[in-house]
Amino acid sequence: MAELRSDETTRRSFIRAGAALGAGVFAGSMLACRGGSAIQAATGQILPPLPYPENALEPAIDAMTMQIHHGKHHQAYVDNLNNALKAHPDLQKMPLEELLARNAAKVPEDIRQAVINNGGGHLNHSLFWTILGPPSKVSPAPKGKLLDAVKSAFGSVDDLKQKMNEAGTKRFGSGWAWLVKDSGGKLEILSTANQDSPILQGKFPVLGIDVWEHAYYLKYQNRRPDYLKAIWSVVNWDEVGRRYEA
Ligand code: MN
Repeated sequence: MAELRSDETTRRSFIRAGAALGAGVFAGSMLACRGGSAIQAATGQILPPLPYPENALEPAIDAMTMQIHHGKHHQAYVDNLNNALKAHPDLQKMPLEELLARNAAKVPEDIRQAVINNGGGHLNHSLFWTILGPPSKVSPAPKGKLLDAVKSAFGSVDDLKQKMNEAGTKRFGSGWAWLVKDSGGKLEILSTANQDSPILQGKFPVLGIDVWEHAYYLKYQNRRPDYLKAIWSVVNWDEVGRRYEA
């Protein structure tokens, strides 16, 4: 799939897929092939379609929240990133992960923070949609190598959830709670502010939970801990496991 970024035909089909929001199987399979990364074309970033309908995560996450979160907030990160990079075609062509992981210092200072914020926003949300899924269609619990690693790092899956929820609850203001792995495959929980991606610190995000108010406020208002408790019912452990083994 490496040629995706330069192939005009593929680029057009991505744009069509993006227009047909939530276009089911096609969208899901393309996201899977792209390894859950941000969708990127030669001329800039594109909002990846949701891999399931907007109401698929109810009651944990309501359809209106999904619609605004994906269609407005995520779209804005994509647009703002493209806008920041428009005078820098060399940076625009670079895979976003690479740009943030190793080349953030090379980004001109006047757009650097915009790239970290909006590039991170695009990357984080592209991951977020894929690590969630309708409970009837995804594994309800980690298994295999991921389960072994969770047990060795945290004791149990419940301990992992509790520590992630703690990280998300304690994050002051906006940010994310993350399960990340280092280059040796060791798991760790951390929290980042704003849209800072863990790859800025050289950590690979395996699972991320958005704790910005826009992720939960319509349904949960000030009750972030209730949102954090509910979201585990829609975590797609197949995708989390795939990311862990990637
Ligand atoms: Mn968000």
